[in-house]
Amino acid sequence: MTIRAIIFIFLAVATIDAYGTPFKIVTTFSILNSIVEEIAGTEKATVTTIVGPDGDAHVYQPRPMDAKNLFEADLVVVNGLKLEGWLDRLIKASGYKGPKVIASKSIEPLLFMENGLKIPDPHAWHSVPHIMTYVKNITIALKHFNSENADYYQKRSDEYLKKLGELDQWVRREIAKIPVKNRIIITAHDAFEYFAKEYNVKLFSPLGVSTDAEPSPKDLARIIMKIRQNDIKALFAETTTDKRIVEQIARETNIKVGGELYSDAISKKTGPAPTYIQMIRHNVGILVEALK
Ligand SMILES: [Zn+2]
Repeated sequence: MTIRAIIFIFLAVATIDAYGTPFKIVTTFSILNSIVEEIAGTEKATVTTIVGPDGDAHVYQPRPMDAKNLFEADLVVVNGLKLEGWLDRLIKASGYKGPKVIASKSIEPLLFMENGLKIPDPHAWHSVPHIMTYVKNITIALKHFNSENADYYQKRSDEYLKKLGELDQWVRREIAKIPVKNRIIITAHDAFEYFAKEYNVKLFSPLGVSTDAEPSPKDLARIIMKIRQNDIKALFAETTTDKRIVEQIARETNIKVGGELYSDAISKKTGPAPTYIQMIRHNVGILVEALK
């Protein structure tokens, strides 16, 4: 091999290292992953999620490949609000020492009482204005930790925020089609409190904000009583929660199940809700169809 060839190979390798290695971002669950993908794009960064589409981030069991993936990451983006109870142990086990960005930073959490303790409700993503805060927080972090691509991220972020603003207006127009007395959502677990607050609907569920327990007979009796006291049009199953809970309530109250909502995960690419925006559109479509 000539000296010139060796120098050429050396330069080629050096160039790939400086410009070809994408910034490696790991997110904790599929909804957050969709949002980060919109901002980061595919040219400058790779974005992967620990809990995939249709997965439940409340009760996740990490796998060895999650630790490997985390160890190789340049940035980790998490929801926060106590959603990812399994994450700190996984980060420690992986040896990852890089930054951890909390997407929900500065959002005022809704609080729940559980076993005498006030705990934050993690499902802030069902309010589109809250997701716009997530986007701003994530954009600041990407620009800071991968500054050579700052302009690229800012441009994508601005375009995405514009789409989210339009989505928010669309949700308000759609919900307005449901008569006020019908605006009650009954699901298996309390995933839609931020949605309910943002878009002025009511919410009942037999489970709390997590999915790690079964509802007690008392919880079920309470929800069935609420259903009988109100003129309820439909119940809603969730893709990531045990459907038997809602089916049992439907049997005992003779009320139909109005469809399946995506509460804690997006769908796979072939499903009806493969991105955050499509997830919100899918959910609102089902609610309006069943309750109007
Ligand atoms: Zn949940």
